[in-house]
Amino acid sequence: MNMKNTSRRPLVVGNWKMHGSLESVTTLLNFLRHELQNNTVVDVAVCAPFVHLPLCRELLTISGIQWGAQNVSEHTVGAYTGEIAASMLADLGCRYVLVGHSERRALFGEMDAMVIAKIKQVLEAGLKPILCVGETLAERECDATEAVIARQLHAVLGALTSEQLAELVVAYEPVWAIGTGKTASPEQAQAVHAYIRQLWKEKQPEQAERLIVLYGGSVKADNARLLFTQPDVDGGLVGGAALDQNQFCAIVNAAEQAWNH
Ligand code: PEP
Repeated sequence: MNMKNTSRRPLVVGNWKMHGSLESVTTLLNFLRHELQNNTVVDVAVCAPFVHLPLCRELLTISGIQWGAQNVSEHTVGAYTGEIAASMLADLGCRYVLVGHSERRALFGEMDAMVIAKIKQVLEAGLKPILCVGETLAERECDATEAVIARQLHAVLGALTSEQLAELVVAYEPVWAIGTGKTASPEQAQAVHAYIRQLWKEKQPEQAERLIVLYGGSVKADNARLLFTQPDVDGGLVGGAALDQNQFCAIVNAAEQAWNH
């Protein structure tokens, strides 16, 4: 029996992190647009390094695949050497921006306040933020998973209007599963996804059923299907496997199968 909520379209997003050259990105994008040309069920996007976004625009514009960035400045414009404004990402045709990825939180000191400022910039530019939340291994081991998720989500839920919140996508990414080859079990993922939806419901009752909640953390071709069949898992945020053209397409196909059966 299909347990998927058909009011939500599945979404699979690749996070390429700091990988790729003009040559490898061209090859990958040409493959994806060819292989996924008949896909009408799954929304697909790739979050590329800033410098590869013009190439995404060039090669993906007439495909159904969308593109986005992995980070953005919390400022609108001005003397911020090295930063990239959300309006610049909009100019390049981006649809999504990852915000609060655990690598940015842990390695670049991004706190909830900065995450909120970035989300506001993304929304102001008319783009969709993908808000990443998740607990570390130590936090899971001391049963603090829900407390961490609640803190990260409440910060955002309390700072934005209903209209702004309606634009968000949430990605649950347990830090211990990112790039480690360890995946949350389908049951573990489902439990946290249901909790995220419940938290949303408490603040935005009419939005909760429409909220897209992605799972991220070592999603691969061989574990995607089981994760995606969970009722509250609406797709995936895929790191390492998004760089492998066959794996990424197989993950998109797994989402399609999960929705079709
Ligand atoms: C990520 O970077 O968001 C991620 C989930 O990475 P990986 O799939 O490699 O664990």
